[in-house]
Amino acid sequence: MKVWSSSSLTDIISQNQRLLASYISESYLPESNFRVAIIGGGPKGSYAIERLASVWNTHCPGKFLDIVCFNLSADFGSGPNYQTRQPDFLLMNYNLGKVDFWTDEPEQLVFDRPDLREFLERFKNESEMEVDAEDYCSRAITGVYLQYCLCKVIDALPPNIRLHLVVDEVKSISEISDSLMLDTGSGMHFGFSEVMCCTGHSYRFGKEYDTRNSVKKISDVSPLNQTVYPAENLQKKDLKGKVVAIKGMGLTFVDAVLALTEGKGGVFKRENGSLRYMASGKEPSEILPFCRTGLPMIARKEDFNSADFSLRFFTEETVQYLLSKHDKLDFKLHLLPFIQREFRFQYVVHLLRFRCSKNIQPEKTLPELELYASGIYPDFEPFDLEEFLSPELPALDFHNAVVNYLRQTVFPENCNEMHQSKIAMSALWRKINPILNTVYSFGKLTGESQRYFDQHFYGRFQRVSFGPPKENMEKILALAEVGLLQFDLANKPKVSIKNQSTDVILSHKQASISKSAVTLIDARIPKSGGLATQPEYIKKLVLQMKASFFVNEKYKTGCLEIDQSGRLKKQKQICFYGTPTEGWTLDNESLSRANNNFLSPWANQISKNYVNIKDSKVNTNYPLLDQGANS
Ligand SMILES: Cc1cc2nc3c(=O)[nH]c(=O)nc-3n(C[C@H](O)[C@H](O)[C@H](O)COP(=O)(O)OP(=O)(O)OC[C@H]3O[C@@H](n4cnc5c(N)ncnc54)[C@H](O)[C@@H]3O)c2cc1C
Repeated sequence: MKVWSSSSLTDIISQNQRLLASYISESYLPESNFRVAIIGGGPKGSYAIERLASVWNTHCPGKFLDIVCFNLSADFGSGPNYQTRQPDFLLMNYNLGKVDFWTDEPEQLVFDRPDLREFLERFKNESEMEVDAEDYCSRAITGVYLQYCLCKVIDALPPNIRLHLVVDEVKSISEISDSLMLDTGSGMHFGFSEVMCCTGHSYRFGKEYDTRNSVKKISDVSPLNQTVYPAENLQKKDLKGKVVAIKGMGLTFVDAVLALTEGKGGVFKRENGSLRYMASGKEPSEILPFCRTGLPMIARKEDFNSADFSLRFFTEETVQYLLSKHDKLDFKLHLLPFIQREFRFQYVVHLLRFRCSKNIQPEKTLPELELYASGIYPDFEPFDLEEFLSPELPALDFHNAVVNYLRQTVFPENCNEMHQSKIAMSALWRKINPILNTVYSFGKLTGESQRYFDQHFYGRFQRVSFGPPKENMEKILALAEVGLLQFDLANKPKVSIKNQSTDVILSHKQASISKSAVTLIDARIPKSGGLATQPEYIKKLVLQMKASFFVNEKYKTGCLEIDQSGRLKKQKQICFYGTPTEGWTLDNESLSRANNNFLSPWANQISKNYVNIKDSKVNTNYPLLDQGANS
């Protein structure tokens, strides 16, 4: 497996940026009477531009359309997460063969539509080896690819579709007669017939998070508090020889640790098959991560091979059957037993493959297979999902327990067959998740069980299934082995502040340890949890436009009340796509175009609804007086 970085590419970055720059401005003057605004110009905002332009070009040829995309920065296409200038040690968390900007729908504006693998094959330096779909790449490379695709869309735009990329923050959306007005940092923009919101991760931490976390809140402006992104800030901050604490042990924690080590000139070298860290001398003396469980993520495991894998218990048919019998499903009562049995089944089948050369007979029941396995493996126990999701590590020597856990999850091949099969089950949730999404979406779970799933299962499944590439967890292991990373206070320590703002103290009564750090890096990504956590424009939709939150029975999901195509229930001209729809849908925080695709119906609806609009350009002498026309 190779990991691709920006240095493998020819100079496509500046080519993209020259083209984007000619479309980017800080203001917008309308050019046509029919206008659609897209808030957020990251990956999903760019997908929205692509879909709308493709559908409009097919169904409304020659008709004038202004597409205005607002974004906080000039990083259109990439957004902040795939920003092209970020360091190459920040990696994608799955292999590059999975990234594709395009869809296969009939309406297409762009005919040459490479996926990321094909793009890299075209633009890699001549000396580079062949690109394999299983390879990984940096997030910066993905950003270059996303911008390249956006440029392809721009290149293909016919003269009647005008695209404006505006660097500006949308602060509110309001309604004037039958059109929408956007209030942005630079002023008011009138006459939009539709607004699509693709603002991704734009939440803040609210009270809910701090009380649940049991970690004493440190003011956001305290010098002790440090965010992870942009990672360059962490790289530049002088932390040489100091002790640093990191709150959160997920993907962002890995990025933070790499910024504090590789980002400061340290080098990972492979010697006799394992990674060794060569310090630069500029890194902290000790990094102390912690979270509510103290458990690191499991390195991403290979997907199951579709040729010899199928679900037996938690299948689409099971879910459809359950939905036909109940108005709403209870996660614990109706779904969890099937999920548990699926884990048991796949585990025993995986295990038996070590010893049975022939395929496992399909007619065998789960108890029969387990009985058979216990004949071969005297220590065999059926798969225990709860133990897999939340293993109990000994409290007394927690650092070494975590290091062992890392070794066993990064290199399961060095352990026995039962352990290897257990860790391989980390890929199973990725097969179950899309089916669960069909039940989770649109409030089909009971409110109480949606809450139960969100709070007790979602994060734990993320930990075991959606971890970073093995390469990165190997680096974490190497740093822990030399003691630069210390996990002895990782499991829910007490956090307090000494001398107002000079030191953070982490302590553990049970282990009788206490350590003080000069900086606390917050490596969590805030989620939507009610009004206080929302970006300004959503707060105003609630406070001024009477938008409400989706409350499933009594459970407040944190998502606005939208319909099954993402449109706000109280204002159908405003639509949401991606992260802001989480709670109403599941798993939207990815680059996938297939998951919860609200874009295609949105674009089709626009072209259908507005096919008879008055087809004229605006009066360019008085563009700002024009209020738009959607007769
Ligand atoms: C650090 C990090 C790493 C990730 N890595 C992966 C990965 O490897 N693979 C994966 O599939 N997913 C990953 N994700 C998940 C990520 O959410 C998606 O991959 C992807 O970025 C979602 O795209 P988006 O356009 O919905 O949101 P974003 O990429 O967050 O883009 C939203 C855009 O909206 C703009 N915006 C927000 N509010 C406003 C406003 N009021 N006015 C104007 N503009 C606004 C922002 O500037 C931003 O450019 C990662 C997420 C994070 C945080």
